[in-house]
Order: sequence, then C-alpha cells, then structure tokens
Amino acid sequence: MSSPDFSVRISGVTKSYGNVVALNGIDLDIMSGQIFGVLGPNGSGKSTMLKIIASVLQPDDGSVHVLGMDCRTDYLKIRKHIGFVPEDSVIYESLTGEEFLSLVASVYEIGKDEFERRLEALSAAMDTRGIMSELIGNLSFGNRQKISIIAAMIHDPEILILDEPTKGLDPRSFRIFKNILTMLAEKGKTIIFSTHAMEIAEELCQSLCIIYKGEIKTEGSTSSFLKGENGRQKLEKTFLTITGETDLETVADNVGRTFQ
Ligand code: ADP
Ligand code: MG
Repeated sequence: MSSPDFSVRISGVTKSYGNVVALNGIDLDIMSGQIFGVLGPNGSGKSTMLKIIASVLQPDDGSVHVLGMDCRTDYLKIRKHIGFVPEDSVIYESLTGEEFLSLVASVYEIGKDEFERRLEALSAAMDTRGIMSELIGNLSFGNRQKISIIAAMIHDPEILILDEPTKGLDPRSFRIFKNILTMLAEKGKTIIFSTHAMEIAEELCQSLCIIYKGEIKTEGSTSSFLKGENGRQKLEKTFLTITGETDLETVADNVGRTFQ
C-alpha cells in the first residue's frame, strides 16, 4: 500500500508503442492536495504518463499506485476516483452541454438532484451557464474545453488529470481555470496537468517535473526551481538545457539570415 500522503506513486514505469519508447523508466511520487505540473516539449511522453496514471493505459513494466490502489488490478476502482481530460477529448457535438453532462452523470450513477447541484456550482465557477443549452458542435474550442473539464469533475473525483488543458483558453478563461484549480487543491484534491509552457507551470503548480525523451530529468517544488536571483530565467534555463535547446538565439539568427 502507498503512503496516504501520496496520491500517485510510480516506480520503474516503461511504455513503448511498437519500437517507439515513450516512457523509459519513470519514478515519481505526487503528493496529495497539490497542483503538479508535467512539463516537457512535444513528444516527450507527457500524454502517455497521464494516461497511465488515469488507468486508461497499462504500463509495460513497473508499478503505479493511485490512492494506494494498483493500476494493474484495481483500474476500474481507480477510474472512479479520477477525472481525466485527455488532450483530444471526445465530446458529442450533436448534444448540448447540459445533455452531454447529464449523460456523463448517468454513467457515474449520480442522482438528479446531486447532478443539478454540482452542475450549477461548476457552471457558475466556469462561467458556462450561458452556453449549456447550445450544441457542443457550435461552441468555441475554449468553451468545449470548459465542458470537458466540468465532465471530468462532475463525479467529484479525488484526482483531476488534465492533458494540456490551457491550450484553448483565453486569458479570462485561464484566470477562471486557475482559480478553480486552486480552490480544488485547497479542498485536498490532487491536480496533475501537462503543459509545454513554463510560465503556466510556474504560475499554477506547487511542484513540477520536467520530462524529456521518456525520462524524468528533474523534479521538485516550483519554488526550488525559482530560487535565487533571476528565478524565472533559472527555470527557463533548466528547461532549455534539459531539452537541448540552449541555442535558441542562434536558431533565431539563422532563420533571420535565411529570410533576409
Ligand atoms: P507528449 O504528450 O509529451 O507529446 P506522448 O506521450 O504523446 O508525448 O508521446 C511520446 C512518444 O510516443 C512520441 O514519440 C509519440 O510519437 C509516441 N506515441 C504516442 N502515442 C503513440 C501511439 N498511439 N502510437 C505510436 N506512437 C505513439
Ligand atoms: Mg501530449
């Protein structure tokens, strides 16, 4: 059994797709009640790791415990305690937001009164009351994203996992999203999300890891990455050094010369 202080404990996890190694021996513990950021460039293994934590994908090797449950034997139980917003979440375009969420609630066997209470609270918080009766197919990407997030939260999960959730959000929606995550973390929920944007991880997360080519290169509290003078640049430098992109100015110069 895992320690109750950790929502997620990952040890020696590997995952390949054919001969593409997506995760190459991951060890990671995620504390309960935290906002945890999984930071890394495209193709580094973020989505694969999040899917494994959400128990929708099994690792090839290693162990994953979520809330003390083993992902190999208890994946159905784990899923009840998890809300997952995948990168390309499938939501039914021909339903209204409210119809779709009501469908999700029935899958989780949430009673009508409880559903209405939660929907009202989440719609107010996400500022989506005005769009609930519109067809999902007619909504902007950001508004669809909000519906996906509400769908992931409607069963009141312990852990919320979001794959690049801020991609479609405008600044106002981002602010709302940030407030919601903070409020959920204060209530003891664990939030895990991926991003390739350092400034987002820095602003939202208490802890983060940087993953690159299927390996966790570094992890720790966000403040430990920002310590000292030029904290902001320090995190950026760590990220760029790890991902081998230290020479961005030269790249920009080359592009500049090429297109003179
Ligand atoms: P990220 O989310 O950081 O962009 P992914 O976990 O999606 O990274 O991908 C990690 C690696 O695994 C990449 O090289 C990607 O091309 C590969 N990959 C991901 N999903 C599949 C799949 N279903 N089939 C084959 N290769 C995949
Ligand atoms: Mg991804």
